[in-house]
Amino acid sequence: MTCDVPGRNEMKLEAGSASRPINRRDFRDHLSTADRHGHRQWVFPKKPHGRFYRYRSWVSWLLLAVMFIGPFVRINGNPLLLFNIVERRFSIFGQIFWPHDTAIFAVALLLFGTSIFIFTAAFGRLWCGWTCPQTLLMEMVFRRIEYLIEGDAAAQRALHAAPWTRRKITRKAVKHFIFFALSFVIGNTLLSYVIGVEQLFRIMTDDPRKHVIGLAFMLLFTAVFYLIFARFREQACTFICPYGRLQSTVVDENTLVVAYDYRRGEMRGPLRRPQTPEQRKTLGLGDCVNCFQCVAVCPTGIDIRNGTQMECINCTACMDACDAVMDRIGRPRGLIRYASLDSIEQRKPFRFTPRLAGYTAVLLALAAVLVFLLATRSPVESVLLRAPGALFQQTADGRLQNLYLFKVINKTSHEIPVTLRPENVGGLIQVMGRGDLTVPRADLAQTSVLVQLVPEQLIAGKARLVVGVYSNGKRIETVETTFVGPRNP
Ligand code: SF4
Ligand code: SF4
Repeated sequence: MTCDVPGRNEMKLEAGSASRPINRRDFRDHLSTADRHGHRQWVFPKKPHGRFYRYRSWVSWLLLAVMFIGPFVRINGNPLLLFNIVERRFSIFGQIFWPHDTAIFAVALLLFGTSIFIFTAAFGRLWCGWTCPQTLLMEMVFRRIEYLIEGDAAAQRALHAAPWTRRKITRKAVKHFIFFALSFVIGNTLLSYVIGVEQLFRIMTDDPRKHVIGLAFMLLFTAVFYLIFARFREQACTFICPYGRLQSTVVDENTLVVAYDYRRGEMRGPLRRPQTPEQRKTLGLGDCVNCFQCVAVCPTGIDIRNGTQMECINCTACMDACDAVMDRIGRPRGLIRYASLDSIEQRKPFRFTPRLAGYTAVLLALAAVLVFLLATRSPVESVLLRAPGALFQQTADGRLQNLYLFKVINKTSHEIPVTLRPENVGGLIQVMGRGDLTVPRADLAQTSVLVQLVPEQLIAGKARLVVGVYSNGKRIETVETTFVGPRNP
């Protein structure tokens, strides 16, 4: 068994160690992927087969396809998803968002956080097993390549232990070359979600000296993904993933998890043929024949029969392995299945607990706020500020004039021609340098604006100025500012 740790049942204090002894009989007292000195125990999981693996494969191909073609998909000319942190520009399902959409971002983040809580409380780590990119890429892409090149678990273990012959060097080199090439593709895909495909192609095709930072990030992302999938593997889920840590605080006895039905399985013991279930029952034996197939396929090296554990990513491999064993010995499938601990212990169906009801109410309220914010979101956002350091001026015909800086963000996927009109006072507004202003799609434009008022419109040297922002004769926004002049004209 790959996760069989030499001396796992011993309980002793290491010489010279000040720490308390490891109780290897207690699975909670040690990591299945570390030996008694804390060194990594490499896991060689057996290739899973079965209906859940098949379903997961279909879901994986679909999600991986979406992930890889995502940056190339355009909606209304905008990327499907873009998180350009550098230019502070975001595109979600083709809708452009700017840092000014703070309220929307805040509510969306709250909604995201709350839904994680609710989802995890109800369905445990369904996300980890079925949709997490780390699991999909590790189990469905990198692991499959490994099986193809090095064979199943036993062959991998033998190759691992073998001396460095030409055969071993060739296999390892081919595997790691493919891993690195794939990591390059994954790293660049991630980068294109951040900077956009156009910028990524520019970095690849332009003079490298112009894109030193971009190239450095390409290498960094490639190296990080290579290390994760070639070396770090299940450790990323156990030690790094914050969601993995969070789930242990959220799940309870009503959460749906991959669980071993200990009431049906215990007491475990080998099957001595011919032995009927009734005979096993008489001997106090359950359905578990202690074949360790569920452990052999586990990519995190744990034994699910010990109960729900932090390392379990709910990948369903043990469910398939155990179902195959049950088929062989003529017992019903589902000794390891999706179930809540309560349903196993008390044979109760899934319950919608008050805690879940509370989470759901908060989730619905936040969703309503988000929908409202999105529905009332203005297509443009503008600001009119007095030009810093500029004083008022008086024209030859006695009018007063102020200089402003006008900034306008176009959040739509088409150009917007913009004109400005005073709304609360009679006066003249002139866009400097040009008669009109056209804001490119999903972009920002800024210009200087001159406003002229007659002195009688000012009270105590000031006037409140409301300016309408018009496009094709329709007011799309209003901005407010102050007009200043002499206190005693
Ligand atoms: S695969 Fe099933 S029968 Fe075999 S050890 Fe695991 S739980 Fe028991
Ligand atoms: S215990 Fe089962 S579901 Fe959990 S990680 Fe291992 S094989 Fe996957």
